Amino acid sequence: MAEMKKGPLSAFTRSPNKAANVLPIPPARQRLVIGNWKMHGDLDLCLETVSVLADVVTPQVGLVLCPPAPYLGEIRRLAQGTRLDMSAQNVAELSGGERTGEWSARMLAEVGCRYAIVGHSERRRHHLECDQLTAAKAQACLNAGITPVVCIGESQLERDNLLTEHILGRQLRHLVQIPGWREVVVAYEPVWAIGTGHAATPDEAQAAHAFIRACLAQTDPVAAAQISVLYGGSVNEHNAAALFAMPDVDGALVGRASLSPQALSRIYTAALRS
Ligand code: PEP
Repeated sequence: MAEMKKGPLSAFTRSPNKAANVLPIPPARQRLVIGNWKMHGDLDLCLETVSVLADVVTPQVGLVLCPPAPYLGEIRRLAQGTRLDMSAQNVAELSGGERTGEWSARMLAEVGCRYAIVGHSERRRHHLECDQLTAAKAQACLNAGITPVVCIGESQLERDNLLTEHILGRQLRHLVQIPGWREVVVAYEPVWAIGTGHAATPDEAQAAHAFIRACLAQTDPVAAAQISVLYGGSVNEHNAAALFAMPDVDGALVGRASLSPQALSRIYTAALRS
């Protein structure tokens, strides 16, 4: 993997030896591991995943399954009575209407979703979803009582051109314009790390997460310290513990590795131990 170029991002890196950069870590920050199946999986995977994970999940760290929409009902049925939570991969920004192929946040809440991913880079890339639409979707979730998991992150080209801060700053500027932004979960998902097998190093993830918190702190320092910031991009059972050891990494959004219930279980256990 190409080395992350040293830009001003590194100025926000938190380490125990750099007290001047340390923001308070409130006890209330929610830690989460979310398994995003994307357009993979089937009924057998629903059954196997819930069977493996139902007994693993504790109140300390949330464990969220994010199957394709047609399987939400099956996951709900299988996970009833467990601590597993459920998320949608997408949601409309509207509460209803003539939008064939879309579904609202209210519908997701009704079938038991506690979360919905918005602004995933695959939605931005293949469906041309922009920052404004992502923010509108996040607010639609909040209006329906669902927590949006708002994905942000820079592409390889943007990274190569030292635009990481610029991109994250722009994406966050749109987010803080919605009234409910303090209630969202942010997922830092560098596009260059998604599905490539090249995760950000723990230090790179920490630097970006601290920068995200510093950006949010410009609007509300207390909310910025409390908001959960997950890392996503080629997280697996081997690199998860080191990522979770970083003070501003509150969990993970896991794609490919979540298709193995055993791997997801080990990633979750790493989060529990961190
Ligand atoms: C994702 O799609 O959100 C993701 C992080 O994928 P992967 O873990 O496969 O990189």
